[in-house]
Amino acid sequence: MNNILVCVKAVPATTSVQVDGQYRLKREGASLQWNIADESALEAALSLKDKDGTVTVVTMGPPKLEAPLQDLLARGCDRVVLITDRLMAGADTRATAGALRAAAKRLGPADLILCGRRAIDGETGQVPGELASALGIPCVSNVEKLEWEKDRLLLHRRLETGVEVLSARGPLVVSVCEYAYSLRLPGILSMRRARGKTVERYSAADLGLTAEQCGLKGSLTKVTAMESKFPGLRNGPKETDPAKGIQALRAMLREVQP
Ligand code: FAD
Repeated sequence: MNNILVCVKAVPATTSVQVDGQYRLKREGASLQWNIADESALEAALSLKDKDGTVTVVTMGPPKLEAPLQDLLARGCDRVVLITDRLMAGADTRATAGALRAAAKRLGPADLILCGRRAIDGETGQVPGELASALGIPCVSNVEKLEWEKDRLLLHRRLETGVEVLSARGPLVVSVCEYAYSLRLPGILSMRRARGKTVERYSAADLGLTAEQCGLKGSLTKVTAMESKFPGLRNGPKETDPAKGIQALRAMLREVQP
């Protein structure tokens, strides 16, 4: 598996984001950061890449992502691609996966496509599966470790009750857990290599997508309401006697896992 495509999403770097009249996040004014699970996926790709391999990053988002994408070149990526077009605004997971699919097709065959397992803003966790389905390839979700076993990949997949290890051959989509890998810092050599490279930009037309296939128009779902709700503290009795406290805690834990 020589060619790895990584899908990264820019998410608000704060919890106090604004939405417009159609409940779309206002990303223009907000400071953005790469979604943490996507950084994890990118580090997995960079560590899996072999001598002749390439790592390409693709993101769909606003034009101001050019500079942060340049930074990813300095961390060792071979190509970075920005899908940006006003027509793409308000995309739901289906329209997002459609744009990513079109970019993946245009970029040429990838042996492995890595995504984060979920983005911290929309947090549906649907894009990796939808992308795989749109490309007609399998998807393995919630992976916390990827390693080579000859020409196959061993995928350690987190389940509620443990870890499942799958052996797979590409092409496939894998969604990576946020805690799995820490993205490396830019190195001197890769910073030098990055100097000659530029961010490639694709519009909807470049990807052969019509207005009806993009953004709000190309979406099957629409956010119709939104409210903030913080988990806060549990409204239970306060216990000052340690023995009674432990009993109460046991009862609570039994509620969660009888
Ligand atoms: P997830 O599926 O959680 O993302 C998983 C991975 O897919 C990411 O880690 C990344 O690797 C990749 N990925 C996702 N987006 C991009 C991107 N733009 N560029 C590159 N890679 C990407 N849409 C719906 O269809 N249904 C809903 O119920 C819904 N509810 C929403 C609620 C809120 C509060 C908000 C802000 C948005 C909602 N959306 C919903 C829209 C949805 O967030 C966007 O469609 C988004 O593009 C898909 O993102 P996600 O955050 O759900 O992705």
